[in-house]
Amino acid sequence: MRKKTVAGNWKMNLNKDEAVRLFGEIELRSEDVQDEVNLMVFPGHIYLDALLTARSYSSRILIGAQNFHPAEKGAYTGESSVAQLKQLGVDAVLIGHSERREYFGESHAFLKEKVNAAISHDLIPVFCCGEPLEIREKGEQEEYVQRQLEESLFHLPVTDFAKVVIAYEPIWAIGTGKTATKEQAEDMHSFIRSLVQLKYRQDTSDRTTILYGGSCNPSNAEELFSMPNVDGGLIGGASLKAEDFLQIARKR
Ligand code: 13P
Repeated sequence: MRKKTVAGNWKMNLNKDEAVRLFGEIELRSEDVQDEVNLMVFPGHIYLDALLTARSYSSRILIGAQNFHPAEKGAYTGESSVAQLKQLGVDAVLIGHSERREYFGESHAFLKEKVNAAISHDLIPVFCCGEPLEIREKGEQEEYVQRQLEESLFHLPVTDFAKVVIAYEPIWAIGTGKTATKEQAEDMHSFIRSLVQLKYRQDTSDRTTILYGGSCNPSNAEELFSMPNVDGGLIGGASLKAEDFLQIARKR
C-alpha cells in the first residue's frame, strides 16, 4: 500500500518562538495519529535549523523546506542549495507551489531542474500542481495539470519517480475557504494516477502518494480523505494550529 501523508505548509507565517512551539506541540501530541501516516511540516526557511535542532531523536515528524535553488552553489544571492539543506538535516522540499509559480515566475523548465536537484540529494520532492479558476471554468483542468506533470516530472526514470509525492492544489481553493468537493478531488487524483500508470506502469502508480491541498480543514478532511485516490493533504492555514493540524492527520 502507498504511504499516507499529512503535511503542513506554514508559508511566511509565525515568528521563531511560535514556530518552535507549534513544532513541539505537534511532536508531543502526534501519538494518536496512525503510525502509517507520514507527518511533515514546511516551516519558514529561517526556522529550519531551529526546528531541526529542537526535533527529538525519535521524532516521527519530517521537516521540509518551502524553497531552494537548483544550482549546486554559486552567485544566487538570498538562495539556498539542496546540498545546504541536506547538510542541515532537511528531509523534503516543496516544488511547484502555485505561489512560487505565480509570484516568483518559476517555469516548467526551472521546476524540472529543482526536481532533479532534490532527487540528486535524496530529498523527498513534494511536487505541487493545480489549475487556476479560469481553467477550471473552461473545463480544461486535466490538460493543464497533465502539462505541469509532463514538463517538470515525467522525465524522471521510474526509480527516481518512485520517491516523489504529488500534491494536487487547485489554485481557486488555496486560502479561499472554497475547498474542492470530494468528487472534484477524486476525479483529478484518479486522472493523475492514470497518467502515472501510463508513464510508469501500474505498480508505480499504485504506490504514488497524491495529496490534496486547498482549504482543507478539520471539518472537511474526513470526507476528502475518504476518497480512494486521496492519500492525504497538504495543509496551509489549518496547519498553523497544532490541534487543527493533528485533527486533520487523525482523519487520515
Ligand atoms: P490553505 O490550506 O491555506 O488553503 O493552503 C493550501 C496550500 O497552499 C498548501 O500548500
